[in-house]
Amino acid sequence: MSPRPDPPADVDRAAAGRAAIAARRARAAVKNSIASRERTALDAAQAAWSDPESPEAGLRVTELLASVPSLGPTRTARILEQLEISDRKRVGGLGVRQRAKLRDWLVARQGPGRSRLLVLAGPTAVGKGTVSAYIREHYPDVMLSVSATTRKPRPGEIDGVHYYFVSDEEFDRKIAAGELLEWAVVHNSYRYGTPRPPIDAALAQGRRVMLEIDLQGARQVREVMPEALLVFLLPPTWEELVRRLIGRGTEEAEEQQRRLDTAKVELAAQDEFDAKVVNLEVGQAAREVVELMDAPAGATTYGKEPHHG
Ligand code: 5GP
Repeated sequence: MSPRPDPPADVDRAAAGRAAIAARRARAAVKNSIASRERTALDAAQAAWSDPESPEAGLRVTELLASVPSLGPTRTARILEQLEISDRKRVGGLGVRQRAKLRDWLVARQGPGRSRLLVLAGPTAVGKGTVSAYIREHYPDVMLSVSATTRKPRPGEIDGVHYYFVSDEEFDRKIAAGELLEWAVVHNSYRYGTPRPPIDAALAQGRRVMLEIDLQGARQVREVMPEALLVFLLPPTWEELVRRLIGRGTEEAEEQQRRLDTAKVELAAQDEFDAKVVNLEVGQAAREVVELMDAPAGATTYGKEPHHG
């Protein structure tokens, strides 16, 4: 018996081409099923790791994450950087440590009972304080972080409720003890910082946590907790923002100008954020913010974020 002759090269190429098309279709189907929330990115990753020949294993990690409805390319890139995974890596090609990191991240993001951390930032006088006060009153199950600050209380402000009013020495001590998740000098004057222990405790209990902080603080939280959702509160118009800024009348002219300058810089940063909410009416804005937290992880429509999938 003579051995079977090799098939001609073009038949080989055609077969390989068909196989490649089929594999690509299978990967697209996986991405679609994640984008349409039929299955989670964690399910797909686990399928990849149990079968190296599966379409899931052939997906790039970037594609896997970008298929999650709430993760755009910016967040995906940020998360990969945080996890120290190259954007060319395929899910099936990850090493043990990288798999563990990705799995932990996906579990933390969508595991049962895990709450979400939302950071509300925006320009000066846009009404962040009013929106968070409304949330404190109407959505008591949302934990609002109470910041520490070195500024003095304004009339009506209560220590431990609106802020922890602390001395410079006490603020230094908190920094040195690693008690602050982030901190910043705001408006070139006083220091403000987010105490970390209450946040860790609330998140561990599965509660939703909201921070109302300035832009520098939001950027720091993004570094430390890339899974946090960053929301930018926008004024209806610039004129309205100026009106609110001046109208508040609690600050000197020089301070108002300083805040106006800060507001301009802050407005320019809006595209760094995951979602934007326009503060036209406080109740409506508060509801929109809380709804962003309410949505189950991985199943959020973050208003303005472009669609990916
Ligand atoms: P105010 O002094 O008017 O209460 O707040 C001034 C600014 O400080 C606001 O923009 C507010 O968002 C910001 N801020 C309040 N708490 C914190 C904090 O813990 N960290 C940072 N980075 N900013 C904060």
